[in-house]
Amino acid sequence: MQGTSRPPARSDEPEWLGVDEARAAILGVVEPVRGWESAPVRGAFERVLARSVVAPFDVPVHDNSAMDGYAVRAADLHPDVSAHLTVVGTALAGSAFSGVIGPGRAVRVMTGAVLPRGTDTVVIQEIVQRTGDEVVVPPGQRAGQNVRRAGEDLARESVALSRGKRLAAADVGLLASLGIAEVAVYRRPRVVFFSTGDELASIGRPLAPGEVYDSNRYTLHCALQRLNVQAIDMGVVRDDPGELEAAFRDAATQADAVITTGGVSVGDADQVRPVMARVGEMRFWRIQIKPGRPMAFGRIGAACVFGLPGNPVAVLVAFYQFVADALRRLGGEDPLPAHPILRVPCATALRRERGRREYLRGELFEADGRWQVRPAPHQGSGVLRSMSVSNCFIVLPESGGEVAPGDLVHVQPFEGLP
Ligand code: AMP
Ligand code: MG
Repeated sequence: MQGTSRPPARSDEPEWLGVDEARAAILGVVEPVRGWESAPVRGAFERVLARSVVAPFDVPVHDNSAMDGYAVRAADLHPDVSAHLTVVGTALAGSAFSGVIGPGRAVRVMTGAVLPRGTDTVVIQEIVQRTGDEVVVPPGQRAGQNVRRAGEDLARESVALSRGKRLAAADVGLLASLGIAEVAVYRRPRVVFFSTGDELASIGRPLAPGEVYDSNRYTLHCALQRLNVQAIDMGVVRDDPGELEAAFRDAATQADAVITTGGVSVGDADQVRPVMARVGEMRFWRIQIKPGRPMAFGRIGAACVFGLPGNPVAVLVAFYQFVADALRRLGGEDPLPAHPILRVPCATALRRERGRREYLRGELFEADGRWQVRPAPHQGSGVLRSMSVSNCFIVLPESGGEVAPGDLVHVQPFEGLP
């Protein structure tokens, strides 16, 4: 999706950036933390591997049976007549058959049992006839069937999990299957966040006239939990340049990333950008996105700084579209996760504004066996409930125009964000 009409930029201010440009610019300057620590595998869940893990042995270790049945020699079977074999023993998972199997012999095997030496094929128990110690195998079996080969899951010395992998449940299980008790993971990035605004009240006391409760810090706290970073809440900072400067300096000394909300626009009380520029560097702030248009990105010392808008929905849109992957990159995650975009019919008509990529809040739903999407009823960027009742963004391109009922639109499901 490409921007088409850019509002004019004043020569002394940075240009308007498209969403993709802004994302690329941010990811271009964020570098993974260097530090790492050793973590027990269970504690490494959702952490990012700082060293690749190599398989210390073949997985599975031995050729073994994939089914309950009989281990046989393919050479004893016939393409068009039954084979009559003598059963000479049993092999269970964890209790191998020790002999070598010669011609005309078979071994009763259970799933996971080491394949007895001499055999190469397993015939499932449901299709044989067993009488005493004779088993009759019907024609039409395939040599090597129902056998899991040693190393077929993972060969010894091959990379089981690469550096940069965020460990999911299956990955932790895989590490356990290799007998690995500890792994090297990147240290968690330290992310300091605070809200700005003279009107903000903390929950736990009644609102004075003109005040609103500070919800952004709660939203951010939770969004950061999902990313497994070390989140440090610095509370509320007034719209005062001195206080803001002190807060930024303090935050930047402790943090790999600083996230603020509010005060980033062009109102009289909006001090975030000038203060950012004074204590560090303000790279850009104007992005062709709705909601979330003013989002200041820059650096203070070694910390990258995200000055998010104040409106609660804009906070989440900017967090999902720009901040989350930057924090993942900071935490060493590589590659970054895919954020699939679906194309589904829109149940209602929509108007698209030209010049900005718009993230409407919507609901993906199924009706008559078909997935469709409809926008949440109230789309104001301060209407947090529009996020709460939704399960996806409807992403409208910068090109503008009308969407008629039934037209395909782009949808980004919340699941997986961040
Ligand atoms: P601002 O970007 O500072 O002009 O704020 C835009 C709107 O978002 C205003 O209506 C603010 O009251 C509201 N807002 C700013 N910060 C917060 C916050 N932490 N929690 C809830 N609403 C906020
Ligand atoms: Mg404000």
